[in-house]
Amino acid sequence: MDDRQFRNAMGKFATGVNVITTEVDGDVHGMTANAFMSVSLDPKLVVISIGENASMLEKIKKSKKYAVNILSKNQKELSMIFAGQIKENRDVSFERLADLPVIKGASTQISCEVVNEHVEGDHTLFIGRVVDLQLQECSDPLLFYKGKYSSLERSQVVL
Ligand code: FAD
Repeated sequence: MDDRQFRNAMGKFATGVNVITTEVDGDVHGMTANAFMSVSLDPKLVVISIGENASMLEKIKKSKKYAVNILSKNQKELSMIFAGQIKENRDVSFERLADLPVIKGASTQISCEVVNEHVEGDHTLFIGRVVDLQLQECSDPLLFYKGKYSSLERSQVVL
């Protein structure tokens, strides 16, 4: 099986889009990620998966905490900024939740402390204990499917 076939197969799993944020010595770093899952209700745990070449990897290892920002459908540009799909530097303003920077207008913000990490192949899984979260009830999510951004209304594919 080649990499393309594997990627195509995984791309058939429609997901939301998150920006993971963390902070080291006052510097905020963000990265777009869709490898995210709820793990446990008691205690409340989630997991993210970070590639070995992502600069986010060392940052979370240092800070031992991260926030998951579930993007709203009108935040495609933010996803592109934090995925490096928009190259030029953009000023992004952050709010705070439980001592972490979080994305303004995200449909949900979840602040976590790292309780475990597992290296699996070329990614590291960070298990996060949820310390606080904030929801915006009335916002539809940004979606990612077959390598493209989308929204809940299928006719409104946005890329
Ligand atoms: P960099 O390449 O250093 O940063 C990424 C971009 O964010 C840069 O352009 C940088 O300028 C900008 N940026 C960072 N911090 C700030 C700030 N404070 N203010 C303004 N701009 C800032 N990779 C994974 O490992 N796991 C995943 O689950 C995953 N899911 C993805 C899902 C989608 C839909 C997409 C499009 C990509 C996904 N990626 C995933 C790939 C990942 O987003 C990119 O490889 C990313 O560029 C890696 O980021 P980095 O930590 O190396 O940071």
